[in-house]
Amino acid sequence: MRPGVRLVILGKQGAGKGTQCVRLAAHYQVPHISTGDMFRAVQKSGTDLAERLAKFMRAGELIPDDLVIDVVAQRLSGPDATRGFILDGFPRTAAQAEGLAELLAPEELDLCLDLEVDTDVVLARLSKRRVCESCAAVYSLEQPPAVDWTCDVCGGRVVQREDDTEAAIWRRLELYERETAPLVAWYLERDKLVVVDGAGSLDTVTARLVRAIDGRLGARRG
Ligand code: ADP
Repeated sequence: MRPGVRLVILGKQGAGKGTQCVRLAAHYQVPHISTGDMFRAVQKSGTDLAERLAKFMRAGELIPDDLVIDVVAQRLSGPDATRGFILDGFPRTAAQAEGLAELLAPEELDLCLDLEVDTDVVLARLSKRRVCESCAAVYSLEQPPAVDWTCDVCGGRVVQREDDTEAAIWRRLELYERETAPLVAWYLERDKLVVVDGAGSLDTVTARLVRAIDGRLGARRG
């Protein structure tokens, strides 16, 4: 078995993080931990917390850092995360990046991947994006499931996300630039950053990511 990895993936909404994380998680046999997927699952629970989250998420606003860090801490303590993990959608603010470093200490993150795609490309992708409401598999108007908007993976309903409206997309991109893009510098200063071009076919991008990860980890593990 390949050694595990502890990865963070950054990239604008629609850069393809979710899709690539599923592939990388299978390749390195570590869990794909998407805070967006986790919060969408909570939203379906009908609890008070679900109500609180719904307000932020529908508007494309960020959920408060302390709440997000608690949820991630709990998830990372799960037995399947001992080999490592791929974090998607977290950290999103400097406070979350600090929180993650504290959670992992004395261990460290292996690498932060920055998946780069132009804004005009992601805008076009987001308006066409459709997701399975049960397992979060990602489709698009151009690549629909085989049968009548029923998920190929789990049979769930494939729908447009509530926050893939034009207003919420713009708000999320604005927050990405303001809150999350600065994390690129944060990880660069700590010598953890690799930038990967997110343009091209899914296979091309996966191959680039694997090469970047193996190159860096191989060098470090000697
Ligand atoms: P996207 O990256 O397309 O905005 P996600 O699925 O990663 O979508 O997240 C959806 C929503 O969940 C965000 O707009 C935000 O409200 C909430 N969320 C997810 N991760 C975080 C986080 N790390 N910090 C704060 N809010 C988050």
